[in-house]
Amino acid sequence: MSLTTRRTDRPLEGTALVTGASSGIGAEFARQLAERGLDLVLVARSRARLEALASELSERHAVRADVLVADLATPDGVAAVRERLLSQDAPIEVLVNNAGSGLHSSVLGEDLSDHELAFDLMVRAVFHLGNAAGRAMRERDHGVIVNIASVASYVNMGNYSAVKAWVRTWSQSMANELHGTGVQVVTLNPGWVRTEFHERAGISTSNIPSFLWIDVRELVAQCLRDIDAGRTFSVPSRRFQVLRFGAQHAPRALVDAVSRGINRGRAHKPRLPHLPVGIRGARE
Ligand code: NAP
Repeated sequence: MSLTTRRTDRPLEGTALVTGASSGIGAEFARQLAERGLDLVLVARSRARLEALASELSERHAVRADVLVADLATPDGVAAVRERLLSQDAPIEVLVNNAGSGLHSSVLGEDLSDHELAFDLMVRAVFHLGNAAGRAMRERDHGVIVNIASVASYVNMGNYSAVKAWVRTWSQSMANELHGTGVQVVTLNPGWVRTEFHERAGISTSNIPSFLWIDVRELVAQCLRDIDAGRTFSVPSRRFQVLRFGAQHAPRALVDAVSRGINRGRAHKPRLPHLPVGIRGARE
């Protein structure tokens, strides 16, 4: 297990910027970081949801919670968040690089818009925000960056697996570049977590046994414990540690057969109209 050289006897403190904070894993990071007394910058497209969370957390935990509405699938949205991350006057001590969306589209399809969105949101934005945070934190010689990959990056389930494999490799490379500094880069690899993720993308989950799902509170709590322990890699829950080990070490033909089986069971459900995944632009 790779360890950071950040001084982990120093608790997480200062201000955390969380992307995708209006729902799911990002909202839970915001909650648990506020419980620890960190101030917050909450980023997503849905202003109303971010403002509701900001007022809930600032009242409950007496922290400052600012809202930054940005569509991270657009260059303007990424630039606005980069600017906030690069500020040395109001430094960001923790970046949770989390915003993302599900993708279950053939790599041979004619309409490639879902794939383009995935590249913009889960590669381009993740890369640029990590770059800005990494540079600002290296200058101060402290900070924590959490990048959200996925256990799906260990199987071959289309472009989503490929994108998350990119996140994992890039994130671990950044941890290597920052090794020896006070900056800790953590790659979080969730398994199946009950959030709005699958519903938004119209992905059926009926073939996933209930024991495999991880509670979002436990996922985030485990990741924060891994950060406290100075780790650079987090795979919450024993069952997903075992599955990841299997996916890495089983014969490739078996991994491919399992990937095809899971993919077949993920056939599209209609997307919920109030949870659009592929629409660009901030939402009030
Ligand atoms: P979720 O509940 O659907 O939340 C996704 C978040 O991303 C929302 O806050 C959404 O906010 C934000 N977002 C989506 N598109 C955006 C855009 N263009 N610009 C800015 N923000 C955007 O899903 P989740 O499960 O919490 O997913 C969070 C991360 O975990 C993703 O990177 C996902 O790939 C990863 N992950 C999830 C699972 C799982 O089983 N749930 C497993 C492995 C990895 P707005 O709509 O308000 O913009």
